[in-house]
Amino acid sequence: MNKPTEDVNMAELVEMDRAHIWHHLTQHKALETKDPMVIVKGNGMRIQDQHGKEYLDAVSGAVWTVNVGYGRESIANAVRDQLVEMCYFAGSAGNVPGIKYAEKLISKMPGMSRVYYSNSGSEANEKGYKIVRQIAAMKHDGKKHKILYRDRDYHGTTITALSSCGQNERKDQYGPFTPGFVEVPHCCEYRSQFPDSSDYGVKIAREIETIIQREDPDTVGSIVLEPVTAGGGVITPPEGYWETVQEICTKYGVLLHIDEVVCGLGRTGKWFGYQHYGIKPDIVTMAKGVASGYAAIACTVTTEDVFNQFKDSDDTMSYFRDISTFGGCAAGPAAALETMRIIEDENLLENTTRMGEYLMEKMRGLQNKYKVIGDVRGKGLFCGMELVKDRQTKEPADEQLLMAISGDCMEQGVVIGRTNRSLTGFNNTICLSPALICNESDIDEVITAIDNALGRHAVN
Ligand code: PMP
Repeated sequence: MNKPTEDVNMAELVEMDRAHIWHHLTQHKALETKDPMVIVKGNGMRIQDQHGKEYLDAVSGAVWTVNVGYGRESIANAVRDQLVEMCYFAGSAGNVPGIKYAEKLISKMPGMSRVYYSNSGSEANEKGYKIVRQIAAMKHDGKKHKILYRDRDYHGTTITALSSCGQNERKDQYGPFTPGFVEVPHCCEYRSQFPDSSDYGVKIAREIETIIQREDPDTVGSIVLEPVTAGGGVITPPEGYWETVQEICTKYGVLLHIDEVVCGLGRTGKWFGYQHYGIKPDIVTMAKGVASGYAAIACTVTTEDVFNQFKDSDDTMSYFRDISTFGGCAAGPAAALETMRIIEDENLLENTTRMGEYLMEKMRGLQNKYKVIGDVRGKGLFCGMELVKDRQTKEPADEQLLMAISGDCMEQGVVIGRTNRSLTGFNNTICLSPALICNESDIDEVITAIDNALGRHAVN
């Protein structure tokens, strides 16, 4: 059998792309004067474009997904074997890798119990919202239906997932939105909302309580939060935050839904981001790193308590009346099982913690050198550097600077991530989330590229 790229004429392929592909997040005017990029190969930390140029990928597939790196034959083989054996069956029947993966996943999540499969982070989150809405209908006369979400957090692209998104720039022009979603403030200590930022974590979490009281606690069913905010600018939670959130959720009977779509499966150095903070969630959603991008799979995981609410009634409408067509595809859990084996056998959680510390130290070095880096933050291999015009006023740097730095790094053969102010609000942040297999020399290469780019483009 031919390799996928063997009989491809790249020039023709690029013209076909130009003629027919509607690219994600792209203003196509830009592609009138330059070729679209086609990624044709991937191996370990590196990818190759249609011209044979190699790049070190410091964001795991543009959006923090390919956690175990490119070119893993063992995952491809696991998927192949499964597809030949039994590719797909949906509805209420299970499949072998799906059952095995659920058991393994739950073993990494003490307190959690049930796994519901779908395909994307947006979908996994919407399942979480539907669970909350149905519990409200079944147990609370429909009253406890409101879902709180946080400014800066992102939970997906579909209209309801977007309704729970705190990045207003992404929502612009897509309304009207699904009712019943209520925003709470972000928890970015660097951008503290208080004149006195002592005890910031506790104070900002208490704002959630104020909002629950304002909305009437009997109407609030859940709160959805990222453990570390990703696309909103890599915002790590301040001290005291999670303890207070947990206490508030318990006090008002608000289910705690943790969105682990980015942080999950090792990105922060533990299996799940929430496990750094002693949180006891009711619902946990995950997608990107589950199968490391080798197959589409997402999971909505709940406690047995949540699950039991759909079981303990004789009402014929009391079961979760939801289905996901491709939640029945066995390729996803086959790839996920092998991904998890790799993370365990290659000690990638330990590597993530160690390399995360190394990366943070290097980023601090850059911060000492360039005043334009206002803040550095991160957890494990999930880091951000926020760019400002002035460290005193914290006025955000021009977005063009961020674009120039990422373009320059690309030229140097290093792909970095960014959260743009025009898309996500107040943060112009360089984001780094290399695969969990990275080593010191990979990190040095990334930091050197950013250093070079800052040297060329930053005023100070
Ligand atoms: N939650 C978070 C935290 C995300 O970052 C994303 C995607 N960037 C999603 C949910 C949505 O995932 P998907 O694009 O797979 O629908």
